[in-house]
Amino acid sequence: MIRENLRITEEKIQAACSGSERAREDVKLIAVSKTKPVEMLQEAYQCGCRDFGENKVQELVDKYDKLPGDIRWHMIGHLQRNKVKYIIDKVYLIHSVDSLRLAEEISKEAVKKGVCVSVLIEVNTAGEASKFGTTVENAVSLVEEISRLPNILIKGLMTIAPYVENPEENRLYFAMLRQIAVDIIHKNIDNVCMKELSMGMTGDYEAAIMEGATYIRIGTGIFGEREYTSV
Ligand SMILES: *Cc1c(COP(=O)(O)O)cnc(C)c1O
Repeated sequence: MIRENLRITEEKIQAACSGSERAREDVKLIAVSKTKPVEMLQEAYQCGCRDFGENKVQELVDKYDKLPGDIRWHMIGHLQRNKVKYIIDKVYLIHSVDSLRLAEEISKEAVKKGVCVSVLIEVNTAGEASKFGTTVENAVSLVEEISRLPNILIKGLMTIAPYVENPEENRLYFAMLRQIAVDIIHKNIDNVCMKELSMGMTGDYEAAIMEGATYIRIGTGIFGEREYTSV
């Protein structure tokens, strides 16, 4: 199932890339494996996936220990400051930095471990109350503040668009994220690069590619529906 899902996904990515005159290699696919068992990640790995996304610290750490060392782990979920230390030397990219306090904690732990951590700034482009992320208005100043911290590198921006039936409705939020990145580039802030735009999920990744996504985060489209057990 995973192999076939990946094949279909790959076809759609390629179609969206050629439809928007983008090179396929400029769009990186993250297999969002949250809630899924290690066996399914192994299967995706065997199909060539090397980028995996998780949204819980404990789950990421557990899977990290059980899977090959050449996997790039992406932390895509809300991150609590007291858990930063568990993943600091395991993650390739943290997509969900949305406050100075969280960035300070990441910086502090990175200095301690002698590593440099790459992050994206999460922006709540649609202003949904249920979502994390800095506001559109605060995004630029937050980037400026975080850029001054040691051992942390801002690589770009991330957004989670609303759940919609028609993905075209989300294009405006993806375009908004791209525009914020352009505004930041024009400010020429030291230590800040705006190369990466992490946007688009199973329901809307083609629209995100059209608007410039460099990372798309796909869970259901690769691993099937998630079942959540009540906690
Ligand atoms: C779960 C999740 C995804 C993947 O969602 P699908 O709709 O299953 O593709 C992408 N991004 C984030 C931040 C997520 O939490």
